[in-house]
Amino acid sequence: MSIGTILKHCTNCGHDKSRSEFYRCRRAPDGRQVRCKLCQKASQSSTVALARARTRAAAPAKRVTMTEAEIIAAREREDEAVTAAAFDVLAQQAAAAHG
Ligand SMILES: [Zn+2]
Repeated sequence: MSIGTILKHCTNCGHDKSRSEFYRCRRAPDGRQVRCKLCQKASQSSTVALARARTRAAAPAKRVTMTEAEIIAAREREDEAVTAAAFDVLAQQAAAAHG
């Protein structure tokens, strides 16, 4: 058995490692992933961290828009605007009635 058959080159870190240092991959021609386990773990953990960061970043905005207090506050602002508009109409009618 030559060294080429027992060692596999990691395309990420560039190290030649034992094939057991690579995760299995059915799609790969040699049945192993192109990146070693260490690189794969680092990639996965960074992907997970990124996904968690995105979730954290997205969660507050979603929570704020869905907060009942926010909806009530928005409704109150609308009510104030409607009430102010209604008073304007009444004032105009009163002014017109007084001519
Ligand atoms: Zn590697």
